[in-house]
Amino acid sequence: MCKSNFFKNRKINYKHYPSIKNLGIGDQKLITTAFQYTQMAYAPYSSFHVGAVLRLKNGQLIKGVNQENASYPAGLCAERVALFSSGAQYPDSPIEVLAVCANNPNKKLIQPVFPCGFCIQVMLEFEHRQKSPIRLLIGNPDTSIFEFESASLLMPFSFDPEQL
Ligand SMILES: [Zn+2]
Repeated sequence: MCKSNFFKNRKINYKHYPSIKNLGIGDQKLITTAFQYTQMAYAPYSSFHVGAVLRLKNGQLIKGVNQENASYPAGLCAERVALFSSGAQYPDSPIEVLAVCANNPNKKLIQPVFPCGFCIQVMLEFEHRQKSPIRLLIGNPDTSIFEFESASLLMPFSFDPEQL
């Protein structure tokens, strides 16, 4: 049995807002921008359109939309498209916040859609790399919104490079 305090009574702290109107103006804009980006997703197979936007410390906004492929595993989620683009273009500017929206023209989404495990793992690598947390905003302009102060809260028992 593990006696480390790290593993004791793990709780996930987050905020859950009933509406986008509960956010500050800057965060509202990030959500509406990510939602606009869903229109640019390449998702002919799932019709599940995801938009992500990163805001860097230098003020730049980085767009990501999902990129599907006929060979399904070859595609990539919107979050990782944005994260890897940021890593390539602005490797020295930390990511402050990531907003994620989803849209399906065939089915109204009534709840926020959370990032997949692969994307969370990549967010954790960026947090480790930049030595600061990435704040997450998850939800659509017409759903409730979740806010996490760090991506690590979504994967509390994560694989960490310190373990290598
Ligand atoms: Zn993903």
